[in-house]
Amino acid sequence: MSAPLILNALSVDVEDWFQVGAFETVIDRDSWDSCEARVEANTDRVLGLFADAQVKATFFTLGWVAERNPALIRRVVDAGHELASHGWDHQRVFTLTPEAFRADLARARATLEDAGGQAVTGYRAPSFSIDQRTPWAHAILAEAGYLYSSSVAPVRHDHYGWPEAPRYAFRPLPDAELIELPVTVARFGQRSMATGGGFFRLFPHQLTDFAVRQVNAEGRPATFYFHPWEIDPGQPRVARAPFKSKLRHYSRLDAMAGKLQRLCTRHLWDRYDHVAAREAQRLQ
Ligand SMILES: [Zn+2]
Repeated sequence: MSAPLILNALSVDVEDWFQVGAFETVIDRDSWDSCEARVEANTDRVLGLFADAQVKATFFTLGWVAERNPALIRRVVDAGHELASHGWDHQRVFTLTPEAFRADLARARATLEDAGGQAVTGYRAPSFSIDQRTPWAHAILAEAGYLYSSSVAPVRHDHYGWPEAPRYAFRPLPDAELIELPVTVARFGQRSMATGGGFFRLFPHQLTDFAVRQVNAEGRPATFYFHPWEIDPGQPRVARAPFKSKLRHYSRLDAMAGKLQRLCTRHLWDRYDHVAAREAQRLQ
């Protein structure tokens, strides 16, 4: 069986090791500036890996990171990747009021556009936090001029999920062009699991290959994400974090770069804005 040639969406959520949702209760935002910054070196490694594999991707970046690393943001854009928003400082959307969400978006976008010198038209909510609790979120994104969002996980998970959401690209609003590109959910028998990130790092790569092929066989692009800290076995350890969070965060960091190299060459990849534009055509 020959697989259809489908360009899948590849992304990096640009945040540092101390900014992940799982450590939120033990590392205060006020102390971020005193943590060892590793995001620039790790993202440069990701840029090298993508250059070797000759793939272009989308970098969903925190405004907080862009403010402190404008030269890195330049390198991302100069290499032909898409710069998109991951919000200002990783506050989950369902913890914000609509007004606070609007302000978070605007602050992040201004800083990203300033650093990158390009318009930002894509957004990913921290920890896929657009769900049934935030019925106003997509409308605010559309009103701010975003063309797409990749902020929904149509699955049940202990940290996130909106199981009732569509599995593939959809228009969340009847009167706006905005496209939502949900994270790819693979079906393994009775189980549905969101792919990318920890799933990809912790489980054998064949499961992700299977998920991408499953989605492509249905004629649809898969979406994939990971974080720069996931290729960094030397990052400081957060001793006070919950056991389960530590188990997830620190496992198989040393295998990640090799797995990513293989993933880049085993499937076809593209930036999210390009994939979103093709899906928008299809949804006409
Ligand atoms: Zn994130």
